[in-house]
Amino acid sequence: MELYSLTVHQLREMLSKGEVSAVEITESVLARIERVEDRIGAFITLDRDGALAQAAGADREIARSTAGSLAGIPLALKDVACTEGLRTTAGSKILESFIPPYDATMVTKLKKAGAVILGKVSMDEFAMGSANENCAFGTPHNPWALDYVCGGSSGGSAAAVAADECIASIGSDTGGSIRQPASHCGVVGLKPTYGRVSRYGLIAYASSLDQFGPLTKDVRDCATILQEISGYDQLDSTSVNIGVPDYQAALERGVKGLKVGIPKEYFEEGIDPEVAVAVRNGIDLLKEAGAELVDISLPHTDYGVAAYYIIAPAEASSNLARYDGVRYGQRSAEAETLLEMYRKTRSEGFGTEVKRRIMIGTYALSSGYYDAYYKKALQVRTLIINDFKEAFTICDVMVSPVTPGPAWRIGEKNNDPLSVYLTDILTIPANMAGVPGLSLPCGFTSQGLPIGFQIQAAHFAEEKLLQTAYALERELGLVGRKPAGL
Ligand code: GLN
Repeated sequence: MELYSLTVHQLREMLSKGEVSAVEITESVLARIERVEDRIGAFITLDRDGALAQAAGADREIARSTAGSLAGIPLALKDVACTEGLRTTAGSKILESFIPPYDATMVTKLKKAGAVILGKVSMDEFAMGSANENCAFGTPHNPWALDYVCGGSSGGSAAAVAADECIASIGSDTGGSIRQPASHCGVVGLKPTYGRVSRYGLIAYASSLDQFGPLTKDVRDCATILQEISGYDQLDSTSVNIGVPDYQAALERGVKGLKVGIPKEYFEEGIDPEVAVAVRNGIDLLKEAGAELVDISLPHTDYGVAAYYIIAPAEASSNLARYDGVRYGQRSAEAETLLEMYRKTRSEGFGTEVKRRIMIGTYALSSGYYDAYYKKALQVRTLIINDFKEAFTICDVMVSPVTPGPAWRIGEKNNDPLSVYLTDILTIPANMAGVPGLSLPCGFTSQGLPIGFQIQAAHFAEEKLLQTAYALERELGLVGRKPAGL
């Protein structure tokens, strides 16, 4: 077994027994990147020297027995997380040469735990997209089928994990951006409860929806990373000051007697038949393992996409107003007046999808249309929140597909943004309600593309997600399956 192909928990055990050094692990992962990256394209910025120096530091800590729980584990971060001294682009030309003066709290926590930061991975520009085809620095390729998309917006994070270019990674999820690429790339992805993980240093897309979360090779690793990044942070007023449970301890609880809700709206028309079969099989396995299945309803599911594509762009239009060429990143060299500088900087710096969102958002917030669009969308959001509250009075977790279909061919949907928005139908509601969601690999299409199984739980019930996912992962026996030919 090559070191790069192992999990966090396997490597931790080897490190603690002195069977391997952190430098050897990092060298193995860097060599793997060297070998496959020209076909995958997951990285925007690779910090080879920095990673090796951090690994050497981790080895010293291990020798002194002062090492944190992620000491010597090479991770890749979505390029939306600010990293002190390391370029952070958010996938945008406008931030092409932006070097943050500080670390996101999530990054500080990972560094404190001893993790080795390999570099920054690809994403849709400002996290706007579902295929990672909106990145100013190229589209990563799905490790399972190179001419297919990885999903998005955390496509680079999912691809890097699936291709063994890192041991685990961090993504962010505003409307599905961790769960959906995890599903398309056959890895585990978890979007925590809104407020569980600090957003300080997360380059904002839609602040009321954004959350950082882990993408990993198995459920145990997911629990480990979540443990390290969770918790209250004074620097994020929306982080919640409640204790962080022991997520490892939740894994072995099993599903006996657990009430597993099946939301009927998540199985209606438009679900690819192969996806439906794989998810139904997962549900059957949970039942065999002792879970109690209950039919539930989330009646406002259909309105989620429409409301989200008002609320998220509205918040984005406000958040992205800061990129004016004055304080951050690029500034147009052509401008002669101040107004021209704003205009040219933004015209040159932002890509098509980002401009589209800014226009939609500005329109929805403008005084004549505010009530008809933005206010209405917020009312719909409340209805969706109530759907979830109601459902979680009768079930512990709910299960469904992550996306209606598997990954598509790169370029296939380039001229049809609406059809791309619609693929978010099953992931958006969790963000609207703020509840946590997890994507677990549950099978493959006949073409060999991965299929994901979504588990959602009530606010701050990540333990139940992990406990369900761990039980199902064992039943499915898919861990360790790797894309062939890389
Ligand atoms: N696909 C959704 C969007 O483009 C979600 C993206 C995300 O979760 N960051 O807005």
